[in-house]
Amino acid sequence: MNRRYHIVMPPRFFNTYSREIEELEPRDPAARPIRMYTCGPTVYSRAHIGNFRAYIFEDLLQRHLELRGYKVHRVMNITDVEDKTIRGAGEADVPLQKFTEQFKAAFFEDAHTLRIKRADEYPAATDHRYIDRMTEMIGVLISKGLAYQADDKSVYFRINKFPDYGKLAHFDLTQLQSTGRVKHDEYDKEHIGDFALWKAWDEADGEVKWDSPWGQGRPGWHIECSAMSMALLGDQIDIHCGGVDNIFPHHEAEIAQSEGVTGKKFVRYWLHCAHLLVDGQKMAKSLGNFYTVPDVLARGYTGRELRYALLRVHYRVPLNFTWEGMNEAHESLGRIDEWLARLRECSASVRLARSHAGQARSVPYTFEDALDDDLNISAALGFLFESIRETNRAMDQNEMDAASANAWLEWWKRINTVLDLEAETDVAIPDQVTLLAQQRENARREKNWKRSDELREQISALGWEVRDTKDGPKLTRGAGSA
Ligand code: AMP
Ligand code: ZN
Repeated sequence: MNRRYHIVMPPRFFNTYSREIEELEPRDPAARPIRMYTCGPTVYSRAHIGNFRAYIFEDLLQRHLELRGYKVHRVMNITDVEDKTIRGAGEADVPLQKFTEQFKAAFFEDAHTLRIKRADEYPAATDHRYIDRMTEMIGVLISKGLAYQADDKSVYFRINKFPDYGKLAHFDLTQLQSTGRVKHDEYDKEHIGDFALWKAWDEADGEVKWDSPWGQGRPGWHIECSAMSMALLGDQIDIHCGGVDNIFPHHEAEIAQSEGVTGKKFVRYWLHCAHLLVDGQKMAKSLGNFYTVPDVLARGYTGRELRYALLRVHYRVPLNFTWEGMNEAHESLGRIDEWLARLRECSASVRLARSHAGQARSVPYTFEDALDDDLNISAALGFLFESIRETNRAMDQNEMDAASANAWLEWWKRINTVLDLEAETDVAIPDQVTLLAQQRENARREKNWKRSDELREQISALGWEVRDTKDGPKLTRGAGSA
């Protein structure tokens, strides 16, 4: 592709709200970063790798936007109070905080293993600042007639008063009315679809309770995200993500609550990833068909391999998790590792290639173009492996010079800010070392052996070793180097 005629279009993503691919037009990108909210883990047990598929998709999105020059401010909440956390703490007979702490720690450990970039903020729902925000929002909703306290003392959102309810999920409210069966414990609600904003305390909640104008109780799950998002990112945000199971009712409810309070459009772009499957079924705690990150590591795979396995399929396509897929990830990464080692050797060699010298630095931009197209990672990786094949062939035929190899390494460095797939032990050759090796090669050509030895020592002092091979000098990490 000729770079001069290449027109860069803005990134485009499938917006669940409109069901269309839309160009990204962040609000005021020069003055403020893209505001991104990602629903985080419910810390009642260790997250499974299905959850991490969602977090890796969000990581890919953030990193790609940053590669494209956008600044991103990302918030990921920690849901540390809802039915499952309360039940778990009760069963373990420990305070809620103590119960959830261990799973928060496990979440951060696993996210680190999978090289997921840290969000800027990780608000926890039980933080009193956000609880205050939630009660404040609920108060506004009641004052506007959008919420009511029922006989059971809980406060519910009145979905009939919010005409846009159902728009995100493309859900017909009348169907809900005609087919819904009112469960016994929901008899207080005006409409079966009304969801709890504030749940009145009952015995099963034990010590978990906060004061509110409606009596003691705890927030509903949906209002937690609306309040934390508003507290940290303002009334209106650019991008909101999650897995497809979050669309209804969680994200639908978030829209109703946030827009109900502010009267402004809450989210510009809704992005949702498809599920990670096992034998064609959603990986889920409730189905018992799940693996955690430590389960996968215990089978001898690395975090990097799991990252690759979860990343490599387009986020809107369901991905079946198999051990064969993990083996493929292992092989693909091996190919990348070998390629990088060869490129590094080639970039360290001082000799000129037989040809191709004029083509140095003409590296392609197709990788990020593919990601602009609704994060088409399969196409982006396809392009990477095609490049690996071609450059390996050029190296086989001695048609790659050091400058070209360096240009490819620079290209890799750029795309790896998105992929983050380099082996931990791989260390790029510092420019200073390359320069010294070139000076040494010149000294050798001039038969200045004293100078050549001095330069070898300088290279060695920097932790590198120069070997003179039949293909010319090669640089490797010196023994004992860090
Ligand atoms: P939860 O802890 O259940 O609130 O889920 C955290 C995130 O993981 C949400 O964005 C969910 O949509 C997502 N998620 C849950 N199960 C899966 C799965 N099998 N595949 C992909 N994402 C999932
Ligand atoms: Zn949420």
